[in-house]
Amino acid sequence: MLDIKKIRADFPILKRKVHGKPLIYFDNGATSQTPTVVIDAIIDYYSNYNANIHRGVHTLSQEATDKYEEARIKIQKHFNAKHAYEIILTAGTTESVNIVASGFSSLLQEGDEVIVSALEHHSNIVPWQMMCEKAGAILRVIPMDEDGSLRIDLYDEMLSNKTKLVFCNHVSNALGTINPIETIIDKAHKFGAYVLIDGAQACPHIKPDVQALDVDFYVVSAHKMCGPTGVGILYGKQELLEKLPPYQGGGEMIDTVTFEKTTYAGLPHKFEAGTPNICGGIAFGVAVDYMNSIGFENIQKTEHELLNYATEKLLTIDGLKIYGTSTKTSVISFNIEGIHPYDIGSILDKLGIAVRTGHHCAQPIMDFYRIPGTVRASLSFYNTKEEIDIMIEAVQKAKMMLS
Ligand SMILES: *Cc1c(COP(=O)(O)O)cnc(C)c1O
Repeated sequence: MLDIKKIRADFPILKRKVHGKPLIYFDNGATSQTPTVVIDAIIDYYSNYNANIHRGVHTLSQEATDKYEEARIKIQKHFNAKHAYEIILTAGTTESVNIVASGFSSLLQEGDEVIVSALEHHSNIVPWQMMCEKAGAILRVIPMDEDGSLRIDLYDEMLSNKTKLVFCNHVSNALGTINPIETIIDKAHKFGAYVLIDGAQACPHIKPDVQALDVDFYVVSAHKMCGPTGVGILYGKQELLEKLPPYQGGGEMIDTVTFEKTTYAGLPHKFEAGTPNICGGIAFGVAVDYMNSIGFENIQKTEHELLNYATEKLLTIDGLKIYGTSTKTSVISFNIEGIHPYDIGSILDKLGIAVRTGHHCAQPIMDFYRIPGTVRASLSFYNTKEEIDIMIEAVQKAKMMLS
C-alpha cells in the first residue's frame, strides 16, 4: 500500500487551511493538485534556462529545446505511442478536440455521420456540432442508461458505412463511468470510422496504451494528472495526422513561406504554431514521471478503496442518491432530496471541503436525470478515509441546516 503520509507531503497545498479548517480537496475531477517536483520543474525552467525553443543556436535555447523534446518522449512512452512525433503538445483537451474537429470539417462530406456519446463534456459536444454544421454531416448520440453506462446495443444500431467518426470520453467527468472504449473502437473500425477518445478524466487513474487500443486519436490535459494548466496532448496515428489540415497558421508550423505558397512543417510542428507552453510541456513530463513513480496499480487500489468507503458511508444518509453506479473511477455524484446541490457545496466550503456543484459541463446528463446538477466529490490517491469521515459529518450537518 501507499505511504500516504509521504505522498501527502509531496503536495504543499494540502497543508493549507480554508475558513480556518484544514483543506479537504475533493475536486480532483476539475483539476488535480501539484506535487513539489512539478512546481520545482517550473521554477527551474524560469530560473535557469528560460528561452524559446527550436529557434536559437544559443545554449539556453538548446537546453530548453532538449528538455521540451525529452518531455515529449516521456509522454510518448507513457501512452505507448509508436513515434514521438505522434504526440502533439497542445493547450489541453479542449484545443486537442478542436484541432481534430476543425480538420475533419474539411474532410467530411454532406450526409456523413458522426457519433458522440451522451456522456460527453461540453468541450466534446460543441466542436462536433460546429464541424457537422460546416460539413453538412449528421450528429448522432449514443444514449445513456439509468446507471450511467452507455447503451452499446443502440450504438450497434447506429453504426453504418455512413459513420465516419466516433467520439467518446474514456471516463465521464460528471459520473466517473468508465466506458468500454475497446468495444467502441473495434465496432467503429469494422465500418471504417475513426475514433477519438477523450482521456482527460481517465488519465489520472488509468494508463492507456494507444497502440493496444488501436485508437485513432486520444486527448489529455496535464492539469488533471498532477501537471500544470494550459498544456495537454493530441495523440494521433501518423497517417491521420498527416491527412488532417493544420489548425492554426504561424511560426514553427511552416517549412517555407513565400507570398505565393507556404509549405507546412512535418509532424509534430505542423500542429504547433507559435511559441508553445514550453515550461508547461516540460512540467507535464515531470508529472508523468511522478505518477508512474507512485504506480497506476497502487493509485487504482487506493482510490477504489476510498470510493467504496465513501459510497457506503454516504448511502447511510437518508434521502441521499448517487448518480452513476456502473463501473467507475473514484467519482461520487450525489444529491439529497429537496436540497439544491449548490447549497450543500457552500456549506462544505465553509468547513474547508472543496467539492464541485453544478452540471459539470455535462448538461445532457443532468437533463437525463431531470436534475439541475449534483454535488461531485472526486477523490484522488492523496485523499484519506479520515477526510471522507469529515465530509460525511459535514454533509449530515448541511442536511440538518437545509431541510
Ligand atoms: C476537463 C475535461 C475536459 C476539458 O479539459 P481542458 O483542460 O479544460 O481543456 C474535457 N473532457 C473531459 C472528460 C474533462 O474531464
